[in-house]
Amino acid sequence: MKSYFKTLITVPAITLSIVACDNAPSIEQGANEQGHTAPTAATIKANQAVLDQRPFANKTDFQNATKGLIAQEPSLVIPHLKGGIVWDMPAYDFIDQKGENAPGSVNPSLWRQAALNNIHGLFKVTDGIYQLRGYDLANMTIIESDNGWILVDPLTARETASKALLFAQKHLGEKPIKAILFTHSHIDHFGGVQGIIQHMSAQEKAELKIIAPEGFEEEATSENIIAGTAMSRRAMYMYGKRLARNERGHVGTGLGKGPAFGSFGFDEPTDLIAETNTELVVDGVPFVFQTVSGSEAPAEFTFYLPEHKAFCGAELVSRNMHNLYTLRGAKVRDANIWSGYIDEARTQFADADVYFASHHWPLWGQENINDFLIKQRDTYKFIHDQSVRMLNQGFTPNEIAENLELPPALNEDFHNQGYYGTVKHNAKAVYQGYLGWFTANPAKLNPLPESEAAQRYVEMMGGVDAIVASAQSQFDKASTMDATEGTKAYRWLAELLNHAVYAEPDHAEAKGLLAKVYDQLGYQAESAPWRDFYLTGAYELRHGGPEEGISPAVMKEVLLKTPVSNFFDSMAVRLIADKAEGETLNVKITFTDLNESYLLMLDNSVLHHKKVENDTPADATLALTQPLFVDIIVGHAGIKDTLFGDDLSVEGSKLDLINFFTMLDKPMGTFNIVTP
Ligand SMILES: [Zn+2]
Repeated sequence: MKSYFKTLITVPAITLSIVACDNAPSIEQGANEQGHTAPTAATIKANQAVLDQRPFANKTDFQNATKGLIAQEPSLVIPHLKGGIVWDMPAYDFIDQKGENAPGSVNPSLWRQAALNNIHGLFKVTDGIYQLRGYDLANMTIIESDNGWILVDPLTARETASKALLFAQKHLGEKPIKAILFTHSHIDHFGGVQGIIQHMSAQEKAELKIIAPEGFEEEATSENIIAGTAMSRRAMYMYGKRLARNERGHVGTGLGKGPAFGSFGFDEPTDLIAETNTELVVDGVPFVFQTVSGSEAPAEFTFYLPEHKAFCGAELVSRNMHNLYTLRGAKVRDANIWSGYIDEARTQFADADVYFASHHWPLWGQENINDFLIKQRDTYKFIHDQSVRMLNQGFTPNEIAENLELPPALNEDFHNQGYYGTVKHNAKAVYQGYLGWFTANPAKLNPLPESEAAQRYVEMMGGVDAIVASAQSQFDKASTMDATEGTKAYRWLAELLNHAVYAEPDHAEAKGLLAKVYDQLGYQAESAPWRDFYLTGAYELRHGGPEEGISPAVMKEVLLKTPVSNFFDSMAVRLIADKAEGETLNVKITFTDLNESYLLMLDNSVLHHKKVENDTPADATLALTQPLFVDIIVGHAGIKDTLFGDDLSVEGSKLDLINFFTMLDKPMGTFNIVTP
């Protein structure tokens, strides 16, 4: 398949990468190895101002994040099964343990959060409950049961989950694993499951319960399938995948250190929780579940352990503001529903003496938990209600974001702060949820696309050289302004210089200055994803886009569990309309192992599919196993070689089949973002 489809897009990709290399901005004096420039006086001022905005004297989070520490691996480095390293905690040793010595290039509030997320190890939460934190983006929780352990959320990757389990066994003793809970359908909470299962005996496996919220399987396997390529590319920005770990690079994600890009897996749940108040006794441990699907994830539950008086909040709440809209791209989440679920948990599980969750550290004491839940509840509801109030007054998303600030009562704590989501982008998500992309201003109805508009702006402003000269003097002046105005100058310069770069993407000075602006905006951001977006933008202006995207092959184990009909939806959205023009074709795919057939019908440059009887006639029929089909889809097996091999059989026209597959796009996940 690769050989056919690659040709469709490599030509422009090569042209662009040559342009990027030939005209890379020069490395500034004082820049670090990756090219990131020093923080300016304006940035240092802005970051200093943060010290007065947050209650830094309150050290309770540090006490809670270290409480109950049983053991810690001094050098927690986890290798990738295929070579290289998947998890590296010592890489973050440049962050001081107390999170007090933020350099000028990191927002002190984010630095503090990054220090908290550096605290890793095996912790006792309460009698019978333990957590492994800092082994991956999420936590893995161990609940002791009558005959062994119940594990909650087996991390993102096989490598990290296995390492965490072995560490727990070393210090707590080896116990049979009786059940695994997936609290929700995001991969950082189930992708490492095979790293647990690999250590289990045949009998343990046979008796294992896997408990998940209803809809888990569908959501876990299909969430990223349609728009997955774009999401993966944008995730490189959001999680700073290309950034070095240092004080001018990635410091963490706010929610944790980062996702472990290791070997992802899956396993099917044996028990699904459909309703709030579902009670289940798992190997002697009573559970009460609350379903919260449609809040942070499309399929999610929290639970209460009455005998431990412990509430597991999954990811409904965490020690930061979460995303109503996640910047890697996703459908927006409903703040009102979300807030309602938090209140439901607060009232249903009011007896809880301890709270623990899928991210961050626990909380102890009914009053503390109640206060935390109230503030989390009200943070989302405040953003929702006030954004709607403003949109009804005619404010645009940018205006709402600029004017909305949490009230003092919600601003006193760290856990409401925008280390992950932010008030600004969450307010825009509320607008988007109700009104969509259009602000009703006709000037925004049919504007020229970015490059064309940029060229006209630039021409009117006297060309890129003139813009860069003026921008440079504004950049220098920003350091003489107060913190707010200085930041506004950078925000404006980002917009201005983006026009310059979009008009002339090979203009080295324009790119270099825009990269410097992005450096400063990144250094000032309290939100880790904002920081990583800005700094990755700067990185790519200096070094060009990535050679490779995140391959769909890393998801192969998950895709093998995906209902095959989902793949046909993903094929339909890869149809290259120009190539399909005037073509009418019926292709049948028969899965020999599933004894199922699907007819793919091409007409009007649109691809439909339906399940059919095996003997339904077609122009061409491809008979193969589901795993081979997945191999073809993820690019492991080339369709041309496969068609002439022995692993599948073809009835009808091979030419029609080849013709059909050449009409499908193969997006590489390397598209440009900061350049056209
Ligand atoms: Zn998570």
